[in-house]
Amino acid sequence: MGTFQISRNRMLREQIASRGICDPRVLAAMRKVPRHLFVEEALYSQAYEDCPLPIGYGQTISQPYIVAAMSQLLEAQPGMRVLEIGTGSGYQAAVLSEMGLEVCSVERLHDLYTRTGALLMRLRYRKIRLKLADGTEGWPESAPFDRIIVTAGGPSLPQPLVEQLADPGLMIIPIGGERRGQRLVRVRKEKGVVLQDTLEPVAFVDLVGSHGW
Ligand code: SAH
Repeated sequence: MGTFQISRNRMLREQIASRGICDPRVLAAMRKVPRHLFVEEALYSQAYEDCPLPIGYGQTISQPYIVAAMSQLLEAQPGMRVLEIGTGSGYQAAVLSEMGLEVCSVERLHDLYTRTGALLMRLRYRKIRLKLADGTEGWPESAPFDRIIVTAGGPSLPQPLVEQLADPGLMIIPIGGERRGQRLVRVRKEKGVVLQDTLEPVAFVDLVGSHGW
């Protein structure tokens, strides 16, 4: 077994399973995706630590536990179509793809979009569709989405995303009126009714856009 597979197994045990993540599809996906390849080579040895890491341009790859927790909160079934806002390193998108979801992901920074597009091709995540745009406007041409996951934090819930959520549908998004003090929010749409509940505190980079900061 390679060094990185050992690191991944330890990450699963010590950071993910031990904190209550039990969705077998989430666990299997995170055991499979080579997280170290989503950070620069100098950081490979830190890739499986219990923290976010820089990916350039002032952005970060989320902490493994946060990726797992959000993936589990999505309550997703294989074959569902999911929209991710904030492609970043592409790691969350790869995990969702390994869970059997049809992934569409939007990034606003050109250089990250290009670099991550090339990486996902190289790692054979060819089914993940990427778009360079302000994700607070969603991806209207490909809507509706069964699931939406936002991996950057804004001041409020972007209305276009609510509109592009399927019925029934579920969205997980960090929201905070201040840039510190964000909480994960779960938005459920069912029979035309939209319900929100507030979950755990988180600390994501800024969601920048017409319906963000
Ligand atoms: N899911 C990513 C997390 C990256 S950090 C991962 O697994 O690595 C959040 C990303 O959101 C950054 O790359 C940032 O540029 C992007 N972002 C911020 N505001 C955005 C917006 N309005 N639309 C799309 N992407 C946005």
